[in-house]
Amino acid sequence: MAEPRTNESMEKIVSLCKRRGFIFQSSEIYGGINGFWDYGPLGAELKRNVKELWWRSMTQDRGDVAGLEATIIMHPKVWEASGHTSTFSDPMVDCLLTKKRFRADQIEPQSGVVFHFCDAVEAAAAISNANETIHSLPDGEQKEALLGGVQKAVQLLRNALKVPRDKVVQPMELVGAFINKYGRRGRSLERSFSVLVASETDSARAERVAQQFYEQQELIAPIPRLAKREPVKNSKGFNPEEGPGKGAELTPPRLFNLMFKTYVGPVESEENIAYLRPETAQAIFAQFKTVLEVSRQKVPFGICQIGKAFRNEINPRNFTFRSREFEQMELEFFIRPDEVVQAIYGRVASAGEVANLEPRTTNNQQPTTPDTTAWGWEAWHKYWVEQRIRWYENIGLPRSTLVEYWQQPEELAHYARATVDILFKFPFSKRDDQGELTGEELEGIAARSDFDLSQHQRFSGKPMGVFDEELKVAWAKLDETTKKDLWRRYHDARLKYLTKSGVPAEQAARDATADADGLAKGQYIPHVIEPSAGVDRLLLALICHAYSEDQAPDEKGKPETRVVMRFHPRVAPIKVAIFPLLKNRPELVRKAGEVRELLRPHMTVFYDEVGAIGRRYRRQDEAGTPFGVTIDFDTLGEKGPELKDTVTLRDRDSMKQERVRIGDLLPLLLEKVR
Ligand code: ATP
Repeated sequence: MAEPRTNESMEKIVSLCKRRGFIFQSSEIYGGINGFWDYGPLGAELKRNVKELWWRSMTQDRGDVAGLEATIIMHPKVWEASGHTSTFSDPMVDCLLTKKRFRADQIEPQSGVVFHFCDAVEAAAAISNANETIHSLPDGEQKEALLGGVQKAVQLLRNALKVPRDKVVQPMELVGAFINKYGRRGRSLERSFSVLVASETDSARAERVAQQFYEQQELIAPIPRLAKREPVKNSKGFNPEEGPGKGAELTPPRLFNLMFKTYVGPVESEENIAYLRPETAQAIFAQFKTVLEVSRQKVPFGICQIGKAFRNEINPRNFTFRSREFEQMELEFFIRPDEVVQAIYGRVASAGEVANLEPRTTNNQQPTTPDTTAWGWEAWHKYWVEQRIRWYENIGLPRSTLVEYWQQPEELAHYARATVDILFKFPFSKRDDQGELTGEELEGIAARSDFDLSQHQRFSGKPMGVFDEELKVAWAKLDETTKKDLWRRYHDARLKYLTKSGVPAEQAARDATADADGLAKGQYIPHVIEPSAGVDRLLLALICHAYSEDQAPDEKGKPETRVVMRFHPRVAPIKVAIFPLLKNRPELVRKAGEVRELLRPHMTVFYDEVGAIGRRYRRQDEAGTPFGVTIDFDTLGEKGPELKDTVTLRDRDSMKQERVRIGDLLPLLLEKVR
């Protein structure tokens, strides 16, 4: 169970998801809609479990995070402040032949030979043009070449006019037939087009692809004219996908904003434009002050939210991995800037001090939360990375299936101090030079400085800072040199932010000074650490990791392949299945009903009395149900009083069965599924 699953093909997983009702295409009866997915009965339960576990661990199990449930459509200024209106775009390119759209930055570079065509002429025009000059030419190479060209054009034109193979027709007769049909002698088009093929010897393929392109430009039986050919290395300018468009030229990249637009109210005008949120985080920033007041929290504290997000992805792919509608689970954890921590505690704890996060035990063995005194952004960031990885482990994704990827300085957003992506090794992930799966992003954990709150302060004109009594008291006691040093550091960071955000120099200098002066009054804008996870990607990871096949004996004892979804009992959609051994024995059915009612208020239970018991087990194995309870004749006490009111409890993974008293079932199962 510990090793990442790599060999199961995605097809098997996708087909199981559909067959068993985990996930299927949205609007399937109309052919589906690209990038949108529905969760069936099992998928919906799985999703609820994941969200509930996240919510519990983020808010209910800790005292310093409050929850929020904000709207999907917000004031459009929110997206101006966050930068989404101006910069939330991906570069897109289109294949000139198939019109298929790609994200320019995701195209695999290709090498080979590029055939550049400069224009094309219809075969009919080529024949009549040649006919006019051919007689005036003396015999020789030029005439030979022209005759060769005519032959080729004749063949193309015969195909286009569907002339039977054995019918003899003179070239100019073909041209006549063409004129009759299309009312013209043929035309030419000056439009360049290039094709990348593997080598020089693929010229025929290059020409075929170009021909298709010119046909789309409404030329009939076109003959593309080659301008030049040249070798290229690592080009991203050509369609990379196998199939008819392979090698066709792509358009230059254009920026495409990923936000879905709509109008609020009955009038479809500029001023009524609104957006479906592309992330849940911004509502948290916009409501920061309100939540702070009503929850009576103090920095450091967090606000979290689970909800739908929408991105008009250029190329949705890999099943639900990149969808256009998805859910996010986001936490914004607000912390004191390092200068404030330094002022209060006289030091800033290093990230190294977070190295051992095991809950410490006190004398009476009660675990305590770590001592976070003096933690600066580095320590908090490290803490959240570790917390999140532990959470994944806790719901059944071992550390060995995850990758902790620290973004390189050049990859970071300009306001981010550090970002760690938690990747999962999906079966479709790329492999590195050693053949190891490199993984795809499940969650990003970013130290975002005070950028977001500062932006909303500037755009809304409402203060986003906090008052911190401890800072005010501590500041008053600092010596002058320390005050000056901390003032300067805070001032410079604010000035950098303001200048980068385009605030005019004089204004920026004034604001930065006022912000730094605020420290003495106990005021500052909190910094933030943001763990931002995708629910759908996580579900896909759980499904990929759970999928397994093994051998188990069938009814007659012959080994057969068993598909098992090895979900951790905490996330499993159904926790326990109840089976009366035979459905035509009312005593068994009644007893099974009693067991079902005993467990149902506490967990998801599935009752199944149809078919042989072995087949019923298999169905639940595929659904990922970790426990099966069978009520048989022993339960009724038919084989002796000692087994009366006991049932068989079957473990999905080991297939082991044990006898358990009905009275012990509930506590035993609760311990395993919680
Ligand atoms: P990517 O680089 O893969 O597009 P991102 O870095 O833009 O992702 P974030 O903006 O950091 O993603 O969003 C946080 C999380 O939301 C991601 O880690 C991912 O789990 C989820 N997410 C983002 N885009 C999508 C999508 N199109 N479909 C499903 N989940 C998504």
